[in-house]
Amino acid sequence: MELIDTHCHLTFEQLADDVEAVVARSVAAGVTGWLTVGTDPRQNRKAVELAEKFENIYAAVGIHPHDAKDVTAETLTELKELAQNEKVVALGETGLDFHYNFSNQSDQKRAFTAQLTIAKELNLPVIIHCREAFDETMEILDRHGRGLRGVVFHCFSGTAEQAKIVLDYGFYISFTGVVTFKNAGATRRAAKIVPTDRLMLETDCPYMSPEPMRKQKINEPALMIHTARYLAELKQMDLTDFANAVTAASKSFFDLP
Ligand SMILES: [Zn+2]
Ligand SMILES: [Zn+2]
Repeated sequence: MELIDTHCHLTFEQLADDVEAVVARSVAAGVTGWLTVGTDPRQNRKAVELAEKFENIYAAVGIHPHDAKDVTAETLTELKELAQNEKVVALGETGLDFHYNFSNQSDQKRAFTAQLTIAKELNLPVIIHCREAFDETMEILDRHGRGLRGVVFHCFSGTAEQAKIVLDYGFYISFTGVVTFKNAGATRRAAKIVPTDRLMLETDCPYMSPEPMRKQKINEPALMIHTARYLAELKQMDLTDFANAVTAASKSFFDLP
């Protein structure tokens, strides 16, 4: 059985000083590949540095919608340069977050669109962060997303109807431990309709430990096994079959060895 955490933040301060131990616990739990995701210029540099140090850690670079207000022409030039590192397998996370609105919505849309252009130029798939902005995100992807190598909605927390729209576009959907939470009925209904060849798993750690470990304040890749088990059961599949199917989907999406 093989599992890959397709969206974690190993460079965030909660985990960064302890990466070797975090990785060892992850391997012991059966999670043996990691995609560490950048969110701003500093984190992007750290993500690439870390990926260069560990064989099975890959990196994504992007500017989170929270930080869209700080995006300048230089930011985008540096991003494009970093994205050409051989351990970088995706652009992101990028997208729209109208829940917090830490950056104003027009800055978010501008930064998102600019990153889609870079992804197209470099033929990289895109990791989408979308919170309370589903229609606007789909509108931008519909207009600027043609020709992208791939799109994944990370930490999917939408409805089954929204999942169907995403799937109809040919996009992928990734689930965190949120799907295990008691109050996540809508997300569970969405997970049921996503075929395993379009489904990926992630922790989004250090945030949001899955049940039954939700009390563990700092989430880490080892805990993804609980989400895998939970979703395998939801889909009435054997854990190994489920894990191998979603890992095959992840490898094909990110073009991993
Ligand atoms: Zn996110
Ligand atoms: Zn994230």
